[in-house]
Amino acid sequence: MKPDKLRFLLPLLLAIACAQYVAGQAKKPQIVILATGGTIAGAAATGTQAGYTSGAVTIDSMLAAVPGVRELANVKGEQISNVGSQDISFDIMLTLARRINELLARNDVDGIVVTHGTDTMEETAFFLNLVVKSDKPVVMVGSMRPSTAVSADGPLNLYNAVGVAVDPQAKGRGVLVVMNDWIHAAHSLTKTSTTAVQTFMSPLRGVVGTANYGKNDFYNTPVWKHTTASELDIENVNQLPRVDIIFGCADMPADLIDASVAAGAKGIVIAGVGNGNMNKAALEAAARAAKKGVMVVRSSRVATGSVGRNVEVNDDEMGFIASDELNPQKARILLSLALLKQRSREDIQKMFYSY
Ligand code: ASP
Repeated sequence: MKPDKLRFLLPLLLAIACAQYVAGQAKKPQIVILATGGTIAGAAATGTQAGYTSGAVTIDSMLAAVPGVRELANVKGEQISNVGSQDISFDIMLTLARRINELLARNDVDGIVVTHGTDTMEETAFFLNLVVKSDKPVVMVGSMRPSTAVSADGPLNLYNAVGVAVDPQAKGRGVLVVMNDWIHAAHSLTKTSTTAVQTFMSPLRGVVGTANYGKNDFYNTPVWKHTTASELDIENVNQLPRVDIIFGCADMPADLIDASVAAGAKGIVIAGVGNGNMNKAALEAAARAAKKGVMVVRSSRVATGSVGRNVEVNDDEMGFIASDELNPQKARILLSLALLKQRSREDIQKMFYSY
């Protein structure tokens, strides 16, 4: 080819390549990653030590460790907080939920990924499930090993989370959690091991699906009310009412319940033994609390199963609420949000059956 022809052809080819690139970018879903901290953003001095600091790495460094993620979507990161999830507060949950609602209301955002520590992942996931007002995918993700560990699980978890967030099948299933190739529903998952990579289970309902290098299979649709069907709302809310969890055990000291009421709790969740049971003294203290207008929910310290009304405890007579399938930490989230408005005990019981 003659050099002067090449002079015309080269810019033309370059322009075509640029146009193709821009068109490709425009076609890709827009995903915003909101980072809150956790082990996924954790760092240790060596790759093989157990000790590390949660929330030490920024979202940009995390993304740099996930090759190929930008082929799935146009991703943009925002740092909401950078803490271990043991330090996630209602303040952070409210900020996160508000930002998600703001972003999802925009036409140029197709889904959200939230990076989060695993310790309280189920609480934030359930909170968001109740107050996000969009059916676009919201996918939470964490890791059990810090980013500096040998075989860190964070990068693939994050890749898979983005893969779920861009999947149209993820729409309308409420907040999802992607960990170790499994997709869980916010209502049903729980952390079951302090250290194992395969820590999250959904014991009663099973997983919603699986995520495999960006390819997903969905088996289940959560049956519980969530997001756009939820009546719970955090607009104009800056603080949540105090709800305490009291752990049941043999020879349980009942004065913990009285102390919680005296400290100003508006609700108490008992992590009871078995089917939400507690000894006679604790039952009497809980009934006293209920008489004073404190909402008392019976949940269970047992890892799976539901707590039914009027089984071994006469809830009707004592004025209690049964937690149904919600474990104590999720029962606390639902009760805190339910107490934002004046609601009867019967109405709150119904909420425990439907959320
Ligand atoms: N303590 C850490 C956290 O929840 C544990 C983890 O992320 O796996 O932030």
